[in-house]
Amino acid sequence: MKIFTVTKNELIYFGTAAIIFMIATILFGNYGLRASRVNAENEYIKWIEFNARLSSLQKAMKFDIDSYATETPLCWIELLSYAAAKNWGNMKDEKNINKYIDECAKKLNDGATIEELTADLKLYNYFYETYYSVLGGFLGEYELVENNIATRKYGLKVFSPIAKNYGYSHYDDFGNSRSYGYRRRHLGNDLIGSVGTPVIAVEDGYIEALGWNQYGGWRVGVRTHDAKRYYYYAHLRKDHPFRTGLKEGDFVQSGDVIGYLGMTGYSIKENVNNIQTPHLHFGLQIIFDEVQKDGINQIWIDVYNIIKLLEKNRMSVVRDAEAKDFDRNIKINNIATD
Ligand SMILES: [Zn+2]
Repeated sequence: MKIFTVTKNELIYFGTAAIIFMIATILFGNYGLRASRVNAENEYIKWIEFNARLSSLQKAMKFDIDSYATETPLCWIELLSYAAAKNWGNMKDEKNINKYIDECAKKLNDGATIEELTADLKLYNYFYETYYSVLGGFLGEYELVENNIATRKYGLKVFSPIAKNYGYSHYDDFGNSRSYGYRRRHLGNDLIGSVGTPVIAVEDGYIEALGWNQYGGWRVGVRTHDAKRYYYYAHLRKDHPFRTGLKEGDFVQSGDVIGYLGMTGYSIKENVNNIQTPHLHFGLQIIFDEVQKDGINQIWIDVYNIIKLLEKNRMSVVRDAEAKDFDRNIKINNIATD
């Protein structure tokens, strides 16, 4: 029994129609894309990856800090962007990247300007904007206050999210598969530690989200002053997840205690420990345009090497027995740079 028959002519018609459809898709699909790119009123970066290795970050940062008070101050973001542009964005190739960082520093010290050095590097501006969006708030001037005496300093002014003297372990788990709710990629770094470990605000910012989320459990999100970075701290402790009194809209300074490591999450019901291993999920979202805040356009970067960079910059804390909370133990006055 024949269920379905086609004549030779019908086959030709069908085939021709399919080819026309394909050509039209290619032509108009491309045209549409090109038109939307050109017509976009606000050009902004749609996607970045952050693959700079620890040794490259440390090398560039050292050049920057060591040269700060000299006649030729070097900017670590310029050094990294130069190296990235020279090496076609392959930051994982740290041997060559570090060679280009040295090369750039030497040429700048010899009197060249960064404009001269990058005039022919087409990708330089893209990388500069990329690295500035991630690292722009990391180095700067600040006042360290000890025994009521303020000393002016220049260096790293962001802190590790894990308080000093609390152990943790981690590996580069960015992009790993996760299956709770729906299949998705892991968009952060899990710092495995003990329940109750004080969680520290990495950078200054405003609390944009604070409360329960079925994935992150008790979680807090901090948006930087320039609105470009959103720090996400999740799976905080059951019953007492946040520093007492902390609420949406509050300003937090880098180094402030904001919450406590725990194992909440993976539950629609609030205040449930459904995470197997106590850990802090730490994520960093980069936002060039508000349309990238939610939905499919989000950009989360691999923070593993940033955590490594911040490992030595950890806030010591003291226990406030009365409030059952911890406080930062080092006072720092931030100096506005913009
Ligand atoms: Zn995680």
